[in-house]
Amino acid sequence: MNTAMEHTTHLHDAIIIGSGAGGAPVAWELCKNGWDVVMLEQGQILRPASPPAILEKYYTAQGFTISVNGGNTIVLAGSAVGGTTAINSGTCLRPLKECLAEWDEQTRMGFSDGLLDPFFPKVEKQLGVCVPDRSLLSRSATKFNEGMQKLRGEQTFILPRNAPGCTAKGLCCFCCPTKAKQSTDLSYLPEAVENGLQLLIGTKAIAIKENTDHVHVRTDKNGVQQDLRARNLIISAGALNTPGILKKNRIGTSYGKAGDHLRIHPANKVFAHFPGLKHGPGGIPQGTGYRPKELPRITLEGIHTPQSMTGPIIAAAGHRFNWWMKHHDDMASFGLMVRDRGHGKVRQYGNFPTLRYRIHKDDAKDVVEGLKLIARTFFAAGAERVLLPFVGPNEIEFEHADQLNSIDAAKIKGTDIILSGFHPQGTAGIGRVVDGDLKVFGSQRTYVCDASVLPNSPGVNPQVAIMAFAHRLAEKLMKQ
Ligand SMILES: Cc1cc2nc3c(=O)[nH]c(=O)nc-3n(C[C@H](O)[C@H](O)[C@H](O)COP(=O)(O)OP(=O)(O)OC[C@H]3O[C@@H](n4cnc5c(N)ncnc54)[C@H](O)[C@@H]3O)c2cc1C
Repeated sequence: MNTAMEHTTHLHDAIIIGSGAGGAPVAWELCKNGWDVVMLEQGQILRPASPPAILEKYYTAQGFTISVNGGNTIVLAGSAVGGTTAINSGTCLRPLKECLAEWDEQTRMGFSDGLLDPFFPKVEKQLGVCVPDRSLLSRSATKFNEGMQKLRGEQTFILPRNAPGCTAKGLCCFCCPTKAKQSTDLSYLPEAVENGLQLLIGTKAIAIKENTDHVHVRTDKNGVQQDLRARNLIISAGALNTPGILKKNRIGTSYGKAGDHLRIHPANKVFAHFPGLKHGPGGIPQGTGYRPKELPRITLEGIHTPQSMTGPIIAAAGHRFNWWMKHHDDMASFGLMVRDRGHGKVRQYGNFPTLRYRIHKDDAKDVVEGLKLIARTFFAAGAERVLLPFVGPNEIEFEHADQLNSIDAAKIKGTDIILSGFHPQGTAGIGRVVDGDLKVFGSQRTYVCDASVLPNSPGVNPQVAIMAFAHRLAEKLMKQ
């Protein structure tokens, strides 16, 4: 490895590690107010490619951050300019009131009294959040809505998104081809760069040392190392990476607790066969939602995946796998996520985060009931067959809604449910690793601002909550 070293004695106002939901808004605010800021982003600028190539190049560990403790749970995150926002689905929701009340119980900070309220409109304006027209929804979402009207006489709600000019190409998670989705690389970072942000792409923070009057960060870009110095350090490397950075560099006094309390919003989906559906690749993949009153911790959210991404997540095996894949264009799908009661851990081994996550038994029960509801909804819309995401001895294919009564949620083990997590969070939570101002306990100059700091689940997709925290942190720093 080339270890050429460049030194600089320049003292920046701030160094930010990570360009995603947590890092980018801080940079935007600080640079707008004349701060001298450097941002380090280990990932590259997202460029169009096939979905598997996007997964390989721009997802953390090629999408293979997986817990094998308690079933196979894959947890996904991005590593690109824009962080995970560059490859996310674009849903923009404020945290649920009942979750803010839970945060208050833990932190006594007044979230339910509106602590983050001044920052939500800023986030929504910068991202161009709007509610898309129903005509842009995927056929999966339309079928699901049809079923919900027949089954319960209710409509699904349309999810607000950060994609004002969206023409529904169906590729939000695999590089929006029209650049309609306002991920941070398109919304916050260009203006920050115009205002002086030095964005170092493909550059990783590899070592940190806090001194009395500055923080020293060693970076690596293709084997060339550089030393940077700043008055403030903001770690926004995401909930899977930030704990490893805190621990390796022994930052503050609570780094030993970093990496615990990992929540992921366990998620999965139901496939349904509608002969002649002709789904096609288009339509907003995650455009609608539904909250079943009887399952308050569950949110149903439509998510349609391209054929090349369906193979790895489908429960059917052997000839049944071939059958489902052959009928992909006649398949609708709809997913769910649970506001998890359980939690796991993330640890850093070598370059990659390693997970331990076992779904809580009550979450598993809720997930099974939620999946049954999705399946019933699809049958109400005329599905001829549904496929549930179970392994083990459980039945997975059903041809009639009545057959679903044979599924006893209490008897399905958590380890028998195929799960993914798209929202890792909480691994350096307020009150445990950072204080209410996001400063690392025992540190003078280091802050964490990303999904790690969430005290508990926001009950919704988390990017808006994380960005609101980022605007609040920038305000605090500027008042210093
Ligand atoms: C497929 C998918 C779909 C999603 N859909 C939605 C959605 O619709 N709505 C929503 O609200 N949320 C969604 N999310 C989640 C949301 O995008 C994330 O919660 C959010 O982006 C996390 O923000 P963050 O700042 O914690 O980290 P990130 O946005 O992940 O940013 C962290 C960045 O830090 C960089 N980094 C890490 N370590 C270093 C280092 N040592 N040096 C330099 N750089 C480093 C990483 O490369 C990465 O780019 C989705 C997630 C996934 C995976």
